[in-house]
Amino acid sequence: MGKPTGFKEIKREIPVDAAPKERLKHWDEFHQPMTTDKLQAQGARCMDCGIPFCHTGNLVAGMASGCPVSNLIPEWNDLVYRGLWREALERLHKTNNFPEFTGRVCPAPCEGSCVLGISEPPVTIKNIEASIIDKGFEEGWVVAEPPAKRTNKKVAIVGSGPAGLAAAAQLNRAGHWVTVFERADRIGGLLMYGIPNPKLDKKIVQRRVDLLAGEGVKFVTNTEVGKDYPAKKLMQEFDSVVLCGGATKPRDLSIEGRNLKGIHFAMEFLHHNTKSLLDGKSSSHYISAKGKNVVVIGGGDTGTDCVGTSMRHGCKSLIQLEIMGKPPLGRAADNPWPQWPKVYKMDYGQEEAAAVFGDDPRKYLVTAKKFEGDENGNVKAVHVVNVQWQKDENGRFGPKEVPGTEKVLPAELVLLAMGFLGPEDTVLAELNVERDERSNAKAVHGKFATNIKGVFSAGDMRRGQSLIVWAINEGRGAARAVDEYLMGYSDLPSSGS
Ligand SMILES: Cc1cc2nc3c(=O)[nH]c(=O)nc-3n(C[C@H](O)[C@H](O)[C@H](O)COP(=O)(O)OP(=O)(O)OC[C@H]3O[C@@H](n4cnc5c(N)ncnc54)[C@H](O)[C@@H]3O)c2cc1C
Ligand code: SF4
Repeated sequence: MGKPTGFKEIKREIPVDAAPKERLKHWDEFHQPMTTDKLQAQGARCMDCGIPFCHTGNLVAGMASGCPVSNLIPEWNDLVYRGLWREALERLHKTNNFPEFTGRVCPAPCEGSCVLGISEPPVTIKNIEASIIDKGFEEGWVVAEPPAKRTNKKVAIVGSGPAGLAAAAQLNRAGHWVTVFERADRIGGLLMYGIPNPKLDKKIVQRRVDLLAGEGVKFVTNTEVGKDYPAKKLMQEFDSVVLCGGATKPRDLSIEGRNLKGIHFAMEFLHHNTKSLLDGKSSSHYISAKGKNVVVIGGGDTGTDCVGTSMRHGCKSLIQLEIMGKPPLGRAADNPWPQWPKVYKMDYGQEEAAAVFGDDPRKYLVTAKKFEGDENGNVKAVHVVNVQWQKDENGRFGPKEVPGTEKVLPAELVLLAMGFLGPEDTVLAELNVERDERSNAKAVHGKFATNIKGVFSAGDMRRGQSLIVWAINEGRGAARAVDEYLMGYSDLPSSGS
């Protein structure tokens, strides 16, 4: 521990983001860098607790408490405080293959469980993580490191999101020949085509993909396994297969008017927006929010990304519907430390909408009842009603409409962002992979083996829609399981249980 009194002397500081109205003019990242002096001072706030909770990654009350990849946070905070950036980078890469992604977009459960957070603002862990890896790239310390020896075993990975990429990085490190199959035209899964550019620049994703390619990982794009490439052929050509296809089946809203034009799933909107930006021309499926009244249904992260993207298009108005109640400003009594704090916060999209339209666009405890169309079959309004959460006769909580609270919201574009129902069927069905009760690929965390010999699964495809940091945890863990399967032992780290 560098400075025993650091946490008493130094206040928490995070970099100031570019002003909302300014950043709406472009698609670049809006987090500003911090000076090295300030970062080192922030590192000094870490108390090196006897029992640090920040790096445990345990599930408490069903949510991650601490870092799911078990980043050695107190160690690299201390190294940063001492100015030993290269050593901090080595320590960070031991547990996390892609800190440039998590340092930008992880919701940072580590900070929610920081011991200092019991009585003071927590240590700025996520920003320090991003700064370590960014410095590593700036200084040229992050270079391709191909394995010294090859085992000549071949592994196929289906899906190139963070789970597939983490599995690929680890298996390649162990000396296996790895091929990643991706149905999209670019590698990265939701890192590339889900999370918008202002949160995670696509050059940052491509930079890591290029490094992996430099280490010997082979990437095959525009190829859907189970459709363009039979899954059974993979089984014949490779010694093992890891399924990392994500959980991309969107939840629909079957209400009157659902078939009207102008109602889209969030991912259609987000995917084609990013693709158009990267291609430098509008994709044939590009959906514009320019000049439109937009209603986003769903108050989570995907909804927020729809808000931020619509704002950059120049929408006329924006409302985001959330069926749940507004969270409290501070931790509720039933949500104590070190649990993930369920508190009200404005994310980037809401900040931007508030800067332009004057208020947080979220309307809480509201649901859509029907869509209304014009004479050409285009959506023109959403009928909504307030709800209250009540127990039914079986004791189950559910939303109940409040009579007399109906409203009509003008809307020429409606974006459905109500979560995801699980993985798509194609490859799982062809291989007869068993599913769990939520339709995910059935495999135990820590083992990652499916019911089909030699076939493993990791990431959202196994655990359901989750977080990048969990996808990395699972990809790393599946790599160890595959390595053990192929070689009889493994020196790769496990993913915990
Ligand atoms: C809009 C949005 C925003 C998000 N924002 C955040 C955030 O800010 N922070 C965070 O931590 N998490 C965020 N998440 C969640 C996070 O992105 C996911 O949990 C994570 O990407 C899951 O990684 P994965 O590798 O399991 O799957 P994915 O990233 O979904 O990748 C799966 C890949 O598999 C491909 N694929 C599927 N089937 C096949 C097949 N048969 N053949 C070939 N390829 C196939 C898909 O095309 C896709 O590219 C967000 C999710 C969404 C939807
Ligand atoms: S990966 Fe997420 S939880 Fe882990 S240290 Fe980084 S920000 Fe915290």
